[in-house]
Amino acid sequence: MQPLVPSLTAQPALSRPATELCREEQGGILRCVACAHRCRIPEGGRGICGVRHVANGLLHVPYGYVSSLACDPIEKKPLYHFLPGSEVLSFGMLGCNFHCEFCQNWSISQAGRDELAEALPQRIEAAEIVRQARRRATPAIASTYNEPLVSLEWSLEIFRQAKAAGIRTCYVSNGFASPEALALLEPWLDAINVDLKCFSEEGYQQLGGHLQPVLDTIRWLAARGIWVEATTLVVPGFNDSPEELTACAEFLASVDPNLPWHVSAFHAAYRWDRGVARTPAATIERAVACGREAGLHYVYVGNLGGDAHSDTLCPTCGIAVLVRRGFDLRRSEVVNGACTACGTPIPGVFALPDNG
Ligand code: SF4
Repeated sequence: MQPLVPSLTAQPALSRPATELCREEQGGILRCVACAHRCRIPEGGRGICGVRHVANGLLHVPYGYVSSLACDPIEKKPLYHFLPGSEVLSFGMLGCNFHCEFCQNWSISQAGRDELAEALPQRIEAAEIVRQARRRATPAIASTYNEPLVSLEWSLEIFRQAKAAGIRTCYVSNGFASPEALALLEPWLDAINVDLKCFSEEGYQQLGGHLQPVLDTIRWLAARGIWVEATTLVVPGFNDSPEELTACAEFLASVDPNLPWHVSAFHAAYRWDRGVARTPAATIERAVACGREAGLHYVYVGNLGGDAHSDTLCPTCGIAVLVRRGFDLRRSEVVNGACTACGTPIPGVFALPDNG
């Protein structure tokens, strides 16, 4: 692991003491339980994410800032069955509990451990983020761009205020959560896209995590009625064998055949900026076939250029019920959650909250 670089978020104005996701162990050592790493952190130390740190006997967690704040189409998260065609106010923070060498957002995710990661935090109040969502009339707010679990307390503060204003909430996460974090998040989260990065423990260790907690997160959230979609970035030589793609798809189908799976093409990024080729279209087509053979009803393609496999097809009559061009929703044939042609229910969240 790279040595940690001095953390901007160690500034008192950009953090606050943890209340729920911290345990005191024998000898006064603190353990952070925000993610499945469950780091034991000594006085003056930081967790693996590089942004949660112990000072003066307290665990300090990121709070009160964003590294970026922007309106995106919800399809960009990607969430294809959650308020399709909506804009979502998206905020990012700094840090990540993984260190994927092909991270496309490394300048913010690796801010705690790579001195070349230069993103800066900007102070903001949770109420201001919610005000901006209302002003821009976005029906949802998303914690995204970096790993939201490492700043869970801050996203919860925003989500509580968002819910009170009738705004829905989303995460885009690697899913490497602790049970304690999931229990805190559940009442305040409406939808999540979880990266299923591969289907081997060895692969996950290469990225700085483990497979099982991610599988547990997907199953746990889906069982509790949170809307879940999954994304696999198909990286040549890392996770692109038919066996591994099939294992990903079979797991997701075992959770729910209606769980949308996004298979996304890799392009050079961060430390894998040369020597690893773009994912060939044929590999992505193979991933789509693996998904369908495993029984998944909704498999989508991302990052390939063109619009192949971007529409939502009714699983009964086959008409395109959600027609997309890029991140644009061009047409919807979903009324009251069902296909207009044959009445088959289309799984997802299509209605705005009563006061939205
Ligand atoms: S969020 Fe995860 S990586 Fe960061 S300190 Fe807590 S347990 Fe460790």
